[in-house]
Amino acid sequence: MSAIEVIEPATERVMAEVPRAGAEEVDAAVARAKAAFPAWRAVAPADRAKLLRDLAEAIEERHEDLARLEARNAGKPIGDARGEIAMVVETFRYYAGCPERLLGQTIPVAGGVDMTFREPLGVVGLIVPWNFPLVIASWKVAPALAAGNTVVLKPAELTPLTALELEQIALAAGLPEGVLNVVAGPGSVCGQRLVEHPEVAKIAFTGSTEVGRGIAAGAAQTIKRVTLELGGKSANVVFADADLEAAAAAAPMAVFGNAGQDCCARSRILVERSVLDDFLAALQPAVEGIAVDDPLAEETQMGPLISAGQRDSVSSYVPDDAPVAIRGSAPEAPGYWFPPTVLAPVANDDRAAAEEIFGPVACVIPFVDEEEAVRLANDTIYGLSGSAWTRDGARALRVARALETGVISINSNTSVRVSTPFGGFKQSGVGRELGPDALEHYTDVKNVFYATEGG
Ligand code: NAD
Repeated sequence: MSAIEVIEPATERVMAEVPRAGAEEVDAAVARAKAAFPAWRAVAPADRAKLLRDLAEAIEERHEDLARLEARNAGKPIGDARGEIAMVVETFRYYAGCPERLLGQTIPVAGGVDMTFREPLGVVGLIVPWNFPLVIASWKVAPALAAGNTVVLKPAELTPLTALELEQIALAAGLPEGVLNVVAGPGSVCGQRLVEHPEVAKIAFTGSTEVGRGIAAGAAQTIKRVTLELGGKSANVVFADADLEAAAAAAPMAVFGNAGQDCCARSRILVERSVLDDFLAALQPAVEGIAVDDPLAEETQMGPLISAGQRDSVSSYVPDDAPVAIRGSAPEAPGYWFPPTVLAPVANDDRAAAEEIFGPVACVIPFVDEEEAVRLANDTIYGLSGSAWTRDGARALRVARALETGVISINSNTSVRVSTPFGGFKQSGVGRELGPDALEHYTDVKNVFYATEGG
């Protein structure tokens, strides 16, 4: 097996080497997961819950070193990485509460008793991206295990380290061998093999819409269940009646958090034209003040991009003649740095406003009234998250209902909570993660009829 050289994006240096898995390793991992499935699904729900609670505790004990590993490998600020590992712990705790609550129904029918059971699917393949490596893995692994499935997890090739740690932590915490298997290798080899593999019952994928399309098509060959969490180009709609100061203070990190490499990035800031100048004036110091620096420095708010390729791709959206209204600072190389950048004004169909940039570039798009705001916000192939800022409660609810998006926040830019459903409308995905909804995507319903009157 050749090695993956894992690069630290803030220094461009190799920070680790890990074996590069190929199709054979995927087959072996699926075989282990298949062998472990009958015993794992038979574990009493309370015992499965305890194993997940123990796993949460074991991760919590490693909180700081996992956060540092993630910060270095993904180039994210250490404060953010700590928050993410805390969410990993919270996610395992939340789903530890679920094995005993996977309830069926009894249905009134003639001639007997009819009941439903939620059955695990078997071996599930989980494919995750590099932007939030362990936390997105946990959103899949925890409900999959809680429902009684066994897992093959494929992290992104750029960020395999915390997933490989998780596999070891889980074994040490008592999870039976074969229940959680991690294969670190290229998507086009390992990911594809998981998608094609006849013994894999389901693929849960987070990544780009383009790769997601291929996964949906590939999974169709063996009629796998598929959930897809894909790209986004979310709108942050600021009405003239909003608390402008609060909206302008919150807007920068809603785009520049994780250096803009966030599927929920509110990268289209729609601003009512009558307050556009005031809003931009308030935005400027907030953007210029963002501390872009070494991910391990406590005060850092934004790190580098994940790779040279990502930096080149982001740069292509800011050509020399781009309408740059505000530009923050960034360190010099080494490191894949890109400064927080605000383009204004931008038309909604300009390339920078239409495509997911996945970097620290915000487009400010003016609108004249609520009807135009909703039309512009919805004029995209995506529908993942979004925000509306207004003091008018009726408008807030009207807009929340009118936006074609899976998650919307009013006077806030938060998208994700462990107990609430998360996922996309339109080409942002299929299915939901987190909350109770996720469990439905890791189980099938079985209907049992028991004749009491002769069959
Ligand atoms: P990507 O689609 O390139 O890769 C995601 C994962 O898929 C990686 O593990 C990769 O190795 C694997 N992969 C690549 N090609 C494959 C193939 N042919 N078959 C099977 N697997 C394959 O995405 P990325 O660049 O790692 O992440 C960025 C994208 O992820 C952005 O578009 C972003 O919006 C999206 N994302 C979405 C969410 C969400 O919850 N909706 C969250 C985070 C990121």
